[in-house]
Amino acid sequence: MQKKITIAIDGYSSCGKSTLAKALAKELEYIFIDSGAMYRGVTLYCLRNGLLPEGIPAVAPIEATLEHIDLDFKFNPETKQADLYLNGENVEELIRMPEVAAHVSKIAALKNVRHKLVLDQRKMGMNGGIVMDGRDIGSVVFPTAELKLFITALPEIRAQRRYKELKEKKVETSFEEVLENLRERDYLDSTRTESPLVQTPDAIVIDTSDLTPEEQLRIALNYAIEKTQNA
Ligand code: C5P
Repeated sequence: MQKKITIAIDGYSSCGKSTLAKALAKELEYIFIDSGAMYRGVTLYCLRNGLLPEGIPAVAPIEATLEHIDLDFKFNPETKQADLYLNGENVEELIRMPEVAAHVSKIAALKNVRHKLVLDQRKMGMNGGIVMDGRDIGSVVFPTAELKLFITALPEIRAQRRYKELKEKKVETSFEEVLENLRERDYLDSTRTESPLVQTPDAIVIDTSDLTPEEQLRIALNYAIEKTQNA
C-alpha cells in the first residue's frame, strides 16, 4: 500500500487555499482540515460571549475560557464537506460572516489560542493522509510534512473572488470592504509574534492569480504524486 503523506498548504487570505486543499484531499482520498475555520470558531465564541469588547480581545478571560471551547468537524452529506461545530452547534455559515473575518486575526495572534489549536491540529494529522490549509501549517503544525505548498495571488484578484463568494451567499458587503479586510489580515498574520505567516524554504510556491481551480489542482496533484512515490 502506498504511504499516506502529510500535505501543508499555507498562504495569504482568500488565495484559494481551502478550495485547492479540499479538491486535493478528495482526489487523494485524504482528510481535509481547514485550520482557519477553527480560528474563526474561537472568534465567534468570543464575539458571542463579550470577549471582544470594542473589538479588542480580552486576553485573560479568553485564555481562561479556552477549555470550554470545543471544536469539531463533522461530515455534511448534503454539501459533502466537513462543517465546523462549536460546542455541538453547526457554525459553518456563521464563521464566514464579515464580523468574524474582521476580528479573527486578532484572536489568532494570541499565544494560548494558537497553542490549543495547534495541539488539536496535530492530533488530527497524527496518521498522515491529511491535507491541512492555514498560515502556519508547514512552519509550525507539521514542519516535517512531505509536501508544503505556499499559495499566493494578487490582492485585488483575491478580494474579487471572496466578494463574489459572499455575494452569492447574499452577505451584505462591498468589494472595498473585502479588499480592506484582506489587506489587514495579511498584515496582521505576517507581522504577529506568534507563528507569523511565513514561506518556509522547502515550500513550493503556486501563484493562483491566472490559474483556474482545475489548473491549480493538476499542479498540486502532480507534486503530491511525486512526493508519495518518494515517501
Ligand atoms: O483561512 P482563513 O482565511 O479562513 O483564516 C482566518 C484567519 O485565521 C486568518 O486570517 C488568520 O488570522 C487565522 N489563521 C491562522 N493560522 C492558521 C489558519 C488561520 O492564524 N493556521
